[in-house]
Amino acid sequence: MEVLWYNWGMEFYDTHAHFGPKEDETEGALARATEAGVTRLMAVGGSAELNAAAVKAQAMRPDAVRLALGADRDQAALPPDETLADIRRLHADHACAAVGEIGLDFHFHYTPETSAAQCALFAAQLALADELSLPVVIHTREADDSTCGVLDEVPWHGASLRGVIHCYTGSPAFARKLLDRGFMVSFSGIVTFKSAEEVRASAKYVPDDRLLIETDSPYLAPVPMRGQANEPAFVVHTARFLADLRQVPVERLAAITFSNAVSLLG
Ligand SMILES: [Zn+2]
Repeated sequence: MEVLWYNWGMEFYDTHAHFGPKEDETEGALARATEAGVTRLMAVGGSAELNAAAVKAQAMRPDAVRLALGADRDQAALPPDETLADIRRLHADHACAAVGEIGLDFHFHYTPETSAAQCALFAAQLALADELSLPVVIHTREADDSTCGVLDEVPWHGASLRGVIHCYTGSPAFARKLLDRGFMVSFSGIVTFKSAEEVRASAKYVPDDRLLIETDSPYLAPVPMRGQANEPAFVVHTARFLADLRQVPVERLAAITFSNAVSLLG
């Protein structure tokens, strides 16, 4: 693979990757990740299909792949008791590094009813993460106030609440609120997009000890891979871009984000 030589000696951690149902494609993506120096990654669920594919990816490479299982905002329209029972069963059956992805998205579907259902499912899984002593993987889009509202309502806030705000696209001011609540902040290939000035401001703002990187594959391939299906190997491009942005050597950016991810997710 073309990126081999210049990644020599570096290790990268893709903290957020989704997989599809085709096992040969997952196997290929995992092999290319290893070749590129992406020696660890987290396979993330969110729906029945994504959870099943993440479980398979983890079983293929238990040394390198960590697992997050949960119900994302798109599951909020389903009967909540069944959804929660499913997530609880999955966590009983599989050793997970986190509950996720969970959270709120008011960009695509917002009515008072859908937002209330999303907040309820989010809160219930925060409580589950507390019960299981696991970190959470949070998606938040155009829902800054509601995300903070739900986080602040959980009674154990400040004690065991920890996790990552994934694919961060918000302002530095919102990042401050999330950092104050103890979270790490993860940046995807979006930070490389031409129009993403505010995301770049946030990516400069987050301190070293809270910074993570991810692909959110198969979506959002970073520059210069835009237009292709994204995959964990491509997190290297985001790491290089962030290193330039933060004016540190890529070796340092890789080491910091790797060790942050290990401390949070194993
Ligand atoms: Zn995701």
